[in-house]
Amino acid sequence: MPQILVVNCGSSSLKFAIMDGTDNPPILEGIAERLGSEHSAITFKYAGNKTVQPLHDNDHRGAVTAIKHWINSNSTLPINLVGIGHRVVHGGETFSQSVVINPTVLESIKDCARFAPLHNPAHAKGIEVAQALFGDLPHVAVFDTAFHQTLDADQYLYPIPMRLYREHNFRKYGFHGTSYRYIAQKLATLDLDFASQNTLVAHLGNGASVCAIKAGKSVDTSMGITPLEGLMMGTRSGSLDPSLLAFISDAENISMKDALDILNKESGLKGISEISNDCRSIETAQAAGDDRAELALNMFASRAAKHLASVATNLESVDHIVFTGGIGENSPVIREKICRRLAMMGVWLDLHANQISPRGEVSMISDNRSNTSIWVIPTNEELLIAQDTLSLIADTAPE
Ligand code: ADP
Repeated sequence: MPQILVVNCGSSSLKFAIMDGTDNPPILEGIAERLGSEHSAITFKYAGNKTVQPLHDNDHRGAVTAIKHWINSNSTLPINLVGIGHRVVHGGETFSQSVVINPTVLESIKDCARFAPLHNPAHAKGIEVAQALFGDLPHVAVFDTAFHQTLDADQYLYPIPMRLYREHNFRKYGFHGTSYRYIAQKLATLDLDFASQNTLVAHLGNGASVCAIKAGKSVDTSMGITPLEGLMMGTRSGSLDPSLLAFISDAENISMKDALDILNKESGLKGISEISNDCRSIETAQAAGDDRAELALNMFASRAAKHLASVATNLESVDHIVFTGGIGENSPVIREKICRRLAMMGVWLDLHANQISPRGEVSMISDNRSNTSIWVIPTNEELLIAQDTLSLIADTAPE
C-alpha cells in the first residue's frame, strides 16, 4: 500500500509519521527533539516499541537522515513511500489549498515567514533537507491558514487604514485550518446533512482557536495575522487591548518585541495559574483547592465561550458544536464550563455522556433537549496531510 511520510518541522524539533491515508494508525512515527543542542535525540515508535537514539548530526538534516537510515535498515518492513507531506503554518494569501512543492512554492513559503518567523523558516529548511534526501519523491505543502481563505473581507480585514492591508497584507489569516478541515470532513460522515449545516469548532490545545463553518467552509475564526489573537491559551494571552503592549514595554523598560514575548510565552493559563501552561496540571491543582488554578480554568473557558458566541454571529443557526485538540478531547471540566456559558444559544450538555466520553474516540455529548449536537471528535492533522499528498500525487502523475 502506498504511504506518505508526514513531516512537521519546528525550529528545534521535527515530528514525523508514515501513514497510508486511511484511519490505520501510523506505521512509524516519532520526533527529533532539541535540534541544535548537544542533547538532541530522535525517537522512533514502531509496532508499540519505542527507541531513542542520540542525533550526532544535531540539525534538521541529521534528523531526516536518521529517518531515511531507519527506513533503509528496516527494508523488510512493508514501507512503500510515494511522497512527503509537509505541514506549513503560514501560507499567507498565496495558498488556499495544498500544493505540490516546486521552487516558486518554496520561495512563497519563505516570503510568508514575516508573519510566522519561528515556523516558516523551519518548514522551508525541512523541505529543502527532505528534497535533498528524498529527491525522487514528490513533496507537498499543507497550510494551516489555507482553510480560512474562504473568509469574506468583512471578517478578515482589521478595522485599520485599508492602505496597511493593501501595502503590507496585514489581515486575519487564522490557523488550525488543517484540523478544522479534518473535523469538517469527519462530521460530514457522521451527519449526512452536514453540507447544508452550520458548525462551531473549538480546537483547544496548547494553542487554541475556534472556527465557524458554514456548509463546509470557514466563515470566521478567532486567530489573526498570527496565532496570538483570540482565545486564552497555554502561554498566549489571546485578544486584549493592544495598548497594553505599550504599557508593558514602558513599565518593564523592555522592547516591544520583548513585551510581545510576554504575551506569547508567559501569559495564558501559565500566566494566571502561576503553575503551568498544561491544562491537566492545572486541573489537578484546582482539584486540590488551588484558587489560581480555578481562576485560570474559568478564564480559559469564559474566553473560549465568548469567542464561540462571537464567530457564531456569522451563522444563521448552530447545528453542531465540536470539541477537539488535547483539552477539547480530554477535559470534561473545560467542556462543561464552556457549554454552561452557551446556554443562551440553547446548548445543553449531557453531563454523564460528557464525563464518560472515551479517549481517542468520536462521541456525542449533547442532551436531547439541546438545540445543537455537541461532539467530541479527535483531530488528525497528519492524516489529512497524508491524504492531500496522496491525492495531489495522483492528480499530477503522468497518465
Ligand atoms: P498542541 O497545541 O501542542 O498540539 P495538544 O492538542 O496536544 O497541544 O493539547 C495539549 C493540552 O491538552 C495540554 O494543556 C494538556 O494538559 C491538555 N490535555 C491533555 N490531556 C488532558 C486531560 N486528560 N485533561 C485535561 N487536559 C488535557
